[in-house]
Amino acid sequence: MKILAFDVKNYERKYFDEVSSKYNVEIKLVEHSLTEENVSMCKGYDGVTTLGLYKIGKNIFDKLKENNIGYFAVRSIGYNNIDIEYAKKIGIKVCNTHYAPSSVAEFTIMLMLIVLRKYKQTIYRQNVNNFSLEGLIGKTLGSLKVGVIGTGKIGKNVIELLHGFGSEILAFDKYENKEILKYAKYVDKETLYKECDIITVHCPLMESTKGMINADNIEKMKDGVILINAARGELMDIHSLIKGIESKKIGGLGLDVFEDETNIYHENHLNDIISNMKMAYLRQFPNVVMTPHMAFFTEASVQEMVTYSIEGLKKMYDGEPYEFELTALN
Ligand code: NAD
Repeated sequence: MKILAFDVKNYERKYFDEVSSKYNVEIKLVEHSLTEENVSMCKGYDGVTTLGLYKIGKNIFDKLKENNIGYFAVRSIGYNNIDIEYAKKIGIKVCNTHYAPSSVAEFTIMLMLIVLRKYKQTIYRQNVNNFSLEGLIGKTLGSLKVGVIGTGKIGKNVIELLHGFGSEILAFDKYENKEILKYAKYVDKETLYKECDIITVHCPLMESTKGMINADNIEKMKDGVILINAARGELMDIHSLIKGIESKKIGGLGLDVFEDETNIYHENHLNDIISNMKMAYLRQFPNVVMTPHMAFFTEASVQEMVTYSIEGLKKMYDGEPYEFELTALN
């Protein structure tokens, strides 16, 4: 099998080398993205993989099909940017990748702790020899009630870790998972909004989840609530977050992801003019901690991200069942 890998980062290269011999596939690595203009370079390959940072829709899939590409793998867990229905309609098989949820779950806990212990301001002060404690008083995670929305792989791991801190945990999901009941209580969304000190979301981005945290439900939350998002930026309505921070209804935000982060995050923009007013405005608040979509970024996750995307392409090519073949947005 011949595979063309787009968006290849230096930190992925050694894993591509390992996986090509493991599965006996030929992989060409390119650093740039897959676009309508360069899709003809896929001619002669059987499968394509991209990093999942930008939209792959009808136009690109049609051109992939014209170039006889039958298999497509996105090297991320989230696949909201891939038009799976259209790919399926024209006969291109698509899969995503998977990796242990602990990278994102641990990062989520870290965001909670950074916000709770006011570490952003602490580190700024430390750098200018201001060792005062005024204004930096925090709270312990174990003394708080935490709400987890979305109890899939990552949400479940977040709950397990929170249990270790001694937090009381309320959960909400469309589908309840019995294993969660050891550590958390499922409640309706209204109860979760009303009672929790910290709320973290771990749902996929879909039309039905876009803006699931918005002005209406922020209003129902406790004063000073802390919101955490290490899933997808668009799950939280940014305008409502800004209003909530300005009015002090929201006591802190930990955001690893941001609406319209594509072409900003994961690039060095040191000398560029970045056009994203909401990002710049929100970032300046002392109680808003933002990281550049890096919750996944551990050695183990990057290795698995590369390995399973190639394994997926190979299995689909060989006609074997593959657990992470995508047939619809879930
Ligand atoms: P998962 O599919 O295992 O779990 C998602 C859960 O959300 C499921 O239990 C599902 O039932 C639930 N859900 C869906 N719609 C819902 C709704 N309207 N209300 C409540 N629950 C709902 O996925 P996962 O592996 O846990 O990943 C979750 C998301 O995290 C991914 O979709 C991805 O966007 C994001 N992610 C971010 C990073 C990062 O680096 N920041 C890395 C990996 C994944």
